[in-house]
Amino acid sequence: MEEAMEQMMTDLGASDSTSKRPIFCEKCGKERDQVLVKHPFKDTKWWAPVVCECVEREMAEDKRRQEAYYKKRKIERALKNSSSLEDIKSMTFENYKARPGTERAVEEVKDAVRNFEERGKLGIFIFGETGNGKSHITSAGGNELIAKGYSVIFLTEKDLLSRFASTKNFNNNESFHEIMDACIKTDLLIWDDFLSSQKLTNEEKDWIFQIINGRERANRPIWATSNLTPQEFEDDRTAYKLDDKGRTWWRLIGNMNPIYNRATNYRKAKAMARALGMTVEEYESKGLMV
Ligand SMILES: [Zn+2]
Repeated sequence: MEEAMEQMMTDLGASDSTSKRPIFCEKCGKERDQVLVKHPFKDTKWWAPVVCECVEREMAEDKRRQEAYYKKRKIERALKNSSSLEDIKSMTFENYKARPGTERAVEEVKDAVRNFEERGKLGIFIFGETGNGKSHITSAGGNELIAKGYSVIFLTEKDLLSRFASTKNFNNNESFHEIMDACIKTDLLIWDDFLSSQKLTNEEKDWIFQIINGRERANRPIWATSNLTPQEFEDDRTAYKLDDKGRTWWRLIGNMNPIYNRATNYRKAKAMARALGMTVEEYESKGLMV
């Protein structure tokens, strides 16, 4: 038994305290550190090589990669019903047509991508007219984060609420908790058309609260887009849509940089320009927007 133990220690590269010899890493060739350890049975000490830094780094990297893989798979599973994912994937800053009024929103999203870690739970709330590029800008930022290895969920409010509602069907195997968990744990949640629902049921208000509260606790941001007007943004009635004290709204907005995107509806601008026989740029630079 003792002999077998000694053979094992020798095989591991250990040598008795009197005969320390250098041991080199098989991977990187650097000399490995050694520590004096007590022999398991005898009252002697042995030099035992410790795991090389390069191996330790590799193991940590493997672990990180594996965790990222499981996380991604989980998020993808939760995302599978997202209706417009293919459209979203194609939206980048490169193919975004900059228009007057969108500068601040673009800058804010780019800053949030650059400083994603440092910003923690600080999110973005971009509001303004429908069709003025809000979703394109946030999707472009989300895609850049995905390329950097972060998990991102893009959901329209309508999709989100209907997916929660459908978990009540007996045959739906995507459980409520799976979706809620994904919405809270994803690195970034992009919430398109926030507060677009005319009237929220108590159950829906509770789901929204759980997401907002859960992400705040997890120190993770939400980027929301909304068609609210500046007047509606300030109106207390907007806050009361989420709960009768307005707490959910202020908790959300308190963690966000709100940005009013002044750009007009692009489709409308195109139609108007065509009607007036000019380019969209001419139309917008003349300040003819109503
Ligand atoms: Zn090494």
